[in-house]
Amino acid sequence: MELTNCKECGRMFGSENGELYCSKCRVDDNADFKKVREYLYDNPGASVQEVAEGTGVSETLIIKFLKQERIEIIEDGNSILSCERCSKSIKTGRYCEVCKAEIKKELTQAVKSLNEGKGSKVKYHSHNNK
Ligand SMILES: [Zn+2]
Ligand SMILES: [Zn+2]
Repeated sequence: MELTNCKECGRMFGSENGELYCSKCRVDDNADFKKVREYLYDNPGASVQEVAEGTGVSETLIIKFLKQERIEIIEDGNSILSCERCSKSIKTGRYCEVCKAEIKKELTQAVKSLNEGKGSKVKYHSHNNK
């Protein structure tokens, strides 16, 4: 368990299993999420507006679920969600598959160059100490 700030209300809480929301926000979230999930189960391919009308859950919250990859859009080429990097239409999360792979590669390279930087620093110091 570690102390972290709730992403929704900013309250400090003890997070287990990397939870981002405090128990209060999580309960609210889960009730709404259940409604959305059940609605989508009965109405696959419904638009965000339709889901919002049918469940009473705000469009903002539905889009949040999508970005958290908790629900997924079935339709191809929708205009609800787009990749934050290349603006391509996506079904869930924040980035398309291509950008996800690119970001992962960039991260790996950044970590690698960081480690290489550390290595040369150590070498430089040991050389100087002689
Ligand atoms: Zn909260
Ligand atoms: Zn992309």
